[in-house]
Amino acid sequence: MNRKVIIIGSGPAGLTAAVYAARANLEPLVFEGSQPGGQLTITTDVENYPGFPDGILGPELMDLFRKQAQRFGAECHFKHVTKVDFSKRPYTIWVGDDEYTTETVIIATGATARLLGLEAETRLMGRGVSACATCDGFFYKDKKVLMVGGGDSAMEEATFLTKFASEVWIVHRRDELRASKIMQQRAFDNPKIHFHWNSTISEIHGTVESGVTGVTLQDTTNNETREEACDGVFMAIGHIPNTSLFEENMELDKKKYIVTKNGSTATEHPGVFACGDVQDSYYRQAITAAGTGCMAAIDAERFLEKEEHS
Ligand code: NAP
Repeated sequence: MNRKVIIIGSGPAGLTAAVYAARANLEPLVFEGSQPGGQLTITTDVENYPGFPDGILGPELMDLFRKQAQRFGAECHFKHVTKVDFSKRPYTIWVGDDEYTTETVIIATGATARLLGLEAETRLMGRGVSACATCDGFFYKDKKVLMVGGGDSAMEEATFLTKFASEVWIVHRRDELRASKIMQQRAFDNPKIHFHWNSTISEIHGTVESGVTGVTLQDTTNNETREEACDGVFMAIGHIPNTSLFEENMELDKKKYIVTKNGSTATEHPGVFACGDVQDSYYRQAITAAGTGCMAAIDAERFLEKEEHS
């Protein structure tokens, strides 16, 4: 069956697109991907999503998004798209060997946590190294942990980790934080949070059996190194857009984000729209992702309507 719209991704962008597309009777099919609900499912309190004055848990918010989309008939599948063909319409999308054709596509595949690129980082991931304080913080009760990064995520996650850990050391490569003033202040005011300024991690020590035992810190001003014992290392150094699926068949910018036309979610392929963090390296908020998800569904609806009347 040829679909009117297939949505790839299920964060705030994808599921908002699903709500709008479903209410426009486009009967959207949503492929939720490898992290259903997107990045908010690995955060705790979301305090800045309008409508929730007391905050709401990220996973709970995403369940509400999904329920709202399903209420209007969106079909959501926990499946991962493996290939796309945007060279001719109807467009083709594959999930393994299963093939789907569609008139329009909404891409909302989001972004993924960036890592430092150290060998030990992947070897010890889940064994003392983590890119998700919310998921793994519980395992560090009364332990000493490091948090790499100087942005809002690092401050937020370091603050969260102090619920469990005895000490949280923020490792930042400069002597000034990137985080917003309010998040910085929260970290500065927290007696369990300390700072290694002008520092990066050049090595992580430990084994799969013992977990992390420490790191080598490198001073970014003079390259001098020093050893630091710790039980865990958390990464919060930004994100990489999830665009590997589109590298061969779409225009990406130099940071590999999908390029959309100014003021719309249209890409260079007629009927293919992109929304949320996969095309936004600047705002990257749940509310802006949801906003562009809404735009993508309206863009898809108007595109189909225009075609029908031409
Ligand atoms: P970000 O703002 O891009 O910050 C990334 C941090 O990691 C920066 O401090 C950067 O250092 C550092 N970094 C990047 N690559 C590194 C490397 N290879 N080695 C060492 N350090 C590295 O990312 P984010 O904190 O994830 O935030 C992303 C967006 O989400 C922001 O717009 C933020 O405001 C928003 N956010 C908001 C909230 C909230 O309001 N509750 C919570 C989380 C995130 P430099 O500073 O030197 O570049």
